[in-house]
Amino acid sequence: MDKKLKEKLKKKLKEAKEKLEGRLDSLGKRNKKVKGDWITSYPEFDGGNLEEEADEVEEYGNLLSVGYTLELELKKINNSLEKMKKGQYGICEKCKKPISQARLKAYPQAAFCKKCQE
Ligand SMILES: [Zn+2]
Repeated sequence: MDKKLKEKLKKKLKEAKEKLEGRLDSLGKRNKKVKGDWITSYPEFDGGNLEEEADEVEEYGNLLSVGYTLELELKKINNSLEKMKKGQYGICEKCKKPISQARLKAYPQAAFCKKCQE
C-alpha cells in the first residue's frame, strides 16, 4: 500500500477513535480492568412510580446497545491500528486478499474485503 495513503488512513482511524472514546466517556465510565471497555452506569431508582421505572430500564437498555455498538466499532479501529503496526493492514482477514483502496478510504477499519463482508 502507498505510504501516503496509509498515513492518511491512520490519521482517520485515530480521529475516529478519539471521537468514539469521547462518546463512550459521556455514556459511562471506563473499565480500568478491561481495556476498551466502558461501564454504563445504571440509573438509580427512587422506588416511586412503577411506570417511570419501566421507562428508565428501557432507557438503560438503549444506552447499553449504543455503548455496545460504539465499543465494537472501537475494537475494529484498534484492531486496524494494530495491523498497521504489524504491516498486515488492508488485507482481508478471511480470504487474505487485499481490500480495495476505495473501500478502505470509505471505511478504514474494514477487516474484510467487499466480497467476504457480504
Ligand atoms: Zn476477503
